[in-house]
Amino acid sequence: MALLVLDAVTKRFPGAAAPAVERLALAAARGEILGLVGPSGCGKTTTLRLIAGFEAPDEGEILIGGRTVARAGGREFVPPEVRGVGIVFQDYALFPHLRVAGNVAFGLAERPAGTRRARTREVLDLVGLAAFADRYPHELSGGQQQRVALARALAPSPAAILLDEPFSNVDAELRAELREQVRELLRATGTTAVFVTHDHEEAFTLADRVGVLHAGRLEQLDAPEVVYHRPATPFVAAFVGDADFLGGTVTGAGIVTEMGTFPDPDGLPPGARVHLMIRPDDVGFTPDPEGDTVVVRRDFRGPVNVYCLRLPSGRRVHSSQPSTAILPPGTRVRATAELLHVVTFPIA
Ligand code: ADP
Ligand code: MG
Repeated sequence: MALLVLDAVTKRFPGAAAPAVERLALAAARGEILGLVGPSGCGKTTTLRLIAGFEAPDEGEILIGGRTVARAGGREFVPPEVRGVGIVFQDYALFPHLRVAGNVAFGLAERPAGTRRARTREVLDLVGLAAFADRYPHELSGGQQQRVALARALAPSPAAILLDEPFSNVDAELRAELREQVRELLRATGTTAVFVTHDHEEAFTLADRVGVLHAGRLEQLDAPEVVYHRPATPFVAAFVGDADFLGGTVTGAGIVTEMGTFPDPDGLPPGARVHLMIRPDDVGFTPDPEGDTVVVRRDFRGPVNVYCLRLPSGRRVHSSQPSTAILPPGTRVRATAELLHVVTFPIA
């Protein structure tokens, strides 16, 4: 059974031209880690605030553990403090005047003092910060502050925890390690989590399923591999990785494009015009003075070089090549495309 359900939830802010969140429908299973990605302003924080109870929906319904916590029209509204949801804010929002232990114990105010102390110690152990219990937040690194915020959210054993851009204030070198720690922690405690980020790689590595938000609407919710290889919309295709699109025409032989003919997985009618998605890992090339394609640019990204190629039509596609493969702009090449998954979008 789903632990968290959003049923066609819409949130409008007064004066805004478009809803911040529009008919958002999703469900998280117990213990699932759900990642929501999208660009700045697409409604990520608003979604978390709706789940937490800091905002009320204008339409739709939110359920936690099978119980309605918010229903549009103000009929039902469970306040944040009794929703059983822990939150890790983007800036951590630690209390600067409280020590680490005091911060973690904050959400346990209702418990007897002995239980409070024991649970605080337990959770600090869990996040590996037992030795820092007496420090103040400003005496900790960003990564340590983040783990205190996580410990504080986990202390009352919430049904679910929400994390807003959890790693955006952490140094890049620490991020991968911290992601792994957070993932293990959520798994070990069986905690259902919804985290939001603008970074699709972060969502891919951490989440069981990834939802892609665009202007308040959920365009796809699937396993990371599905989102990457079978994006539901051109927006998703481009947001979760480099994507180029080739114009194609459906024929009896397949989809004909300027980079070759590809099988048509959708059984489209002959004559239909489509955009065919093509990713840099699908494109290869070999230098050839007679080639009809030209190297426009090379972006060195460390482990790979990403080449921008100009096809005879003038359309540009990108090609991912080994780090050591170096060709100057202007080089003539012969380009080929091998698609593992053929993804097309109809041309309106
Ligand atoms: P994200 O977290 O994805 O960057 P937000 O959920 O913060 O996006 O914002 C979504 C949209 O709602 C944006 O257009 C933002 O300006 C607007 N918005 C968010 N909070 C408020 C608010 N309290 N009042 C008015 N508009 C808001
Ligand atoms: Mg935000």
